[in-house]
Amino acid sequence: MRDNFFSVPLKISNNNFRTGKHGYTWGVHAQNSYILKTLGLTNKDLGIEPDEPVAEWWVVSDDVRFPSEVELKDGKVVSLTNILHEYPTEILGEKHFQKYGAYLGSILKLIDPAFSLSVQVHPAIGHPSRPPKPEVWLIESSIAPLYLGFNQNLSGKKLEKIFQDGTLESYLYEYMAKKGERICVDGGLVHAIRGGSTLWEWSYAPTKNDSKCGDIKKATVSLWDRTDGKNPRKGKEDINGSLDVLSDAHLRCNKNVYKLLSVPSVVSESIKLYSDGSGNEIIQMFKTLELVINELKVLSLIHLNDFEQGFQMFVKSGSVDVCDVSGKVLISLKKNDAVLVPASLKNICIKNKGQLFSKIFVWNAVL
Ligand SMILES: [Zn+2]
Repeated sequence: MRDNFFSVPLKISNNNFRTGKHGYTWGVHAQNSYILKTLGLTNKDLGIEPDEPVAEWWVVSDDVRFPSEVELKDGKVVSLTNILHEYPTEILGEKHFQKYGAYLGSILKLIDPAFSLSVQVHPAIGHPSRPPKPEVWLIESSIAPLYLGFNQNLSGKKLEKIFQDGTLESYLYEYMAKKGERICVDGGLVHAIRGGSTLWEWSYAPTKNDSKCGDIKKATVSLWDRTDGKNPRKGKEDINGSLDVLSDAHLRCNKNVYKLLSVPSVVSESIKLYSDGSGNEIIQMFKTLELVINELKVLSLIHLNDFEQGFQMFVKSGSVDVCDVSGKVLISLKKNDAVLVPASLKNICIKNKGQLFSKIFVWNAVL
């Protein structure tokens, strides 16, 4: 066991990007990339050409193909996936490990498309042969509307007809989301992120339970790949799979998946969980059946006490020190830093370092 390994938050390296080389050809070119600009990087730092698409930054990921790297105190760099498998209960906590195995159960990405993505739909929880893949979006910037649900009442039959007629896209609801708005993309909600929208996406990531409810590839079905006039990829559009997912959500879960979109049903309202009256607040941004995502506004300090589950933290703005109960600084974090806080720490205090408040996202899979 490494010295003091679990006595500090595990620092995640900012180097996990999906570019054209990985098949993510719809991203904004490196020279104009919001992702790189946010991180103060250029294409040269990544060793890529200025016109290489940079589509996604995977902020914290234990994906088997593209895991985050962790920078240990001794300077060594290890794969997050490996370290989770080596020390699952110390990092994630006993209860989390019982439920999810040595997996986070979530992934945070910053998505920056130049071109529109396919129109997709994910299964509702409990689909007999497909795993769920709920996702939530926090809008970072938006100059183009999203597609969310339909702009009029349809039925399965009608959907099939407009798909065959090639007019489906004109039936999608265009929602112009504002910066800071939060969208819940529930199972059965037809959706597409379009070019011009930059957003943070938390979504479900595979855990030990996945084989029980079907292949994770079956969790995303593409209804329409011709979004905004792009050429559909061969075999990508799956109308039968989409109807299967939609009719299951409609019939088994009683969801209004074919109806005109009800905007309040997809916008997540924030709930103030804690306020000390002097500028320190904890705000619940999202709570779904799978994920809890809170925002900490730290003006002086916030204590997080008696936690039994490891969690992830991302500094959206400002800079903070993470301290133990005695006030000793465990790690200093600045804007864009992400850490995994081990369950074994149990108590931490987050202290703001600047004049303005720091904004921090904190999230974990639901126990
Ligand atoms: Zn999706």
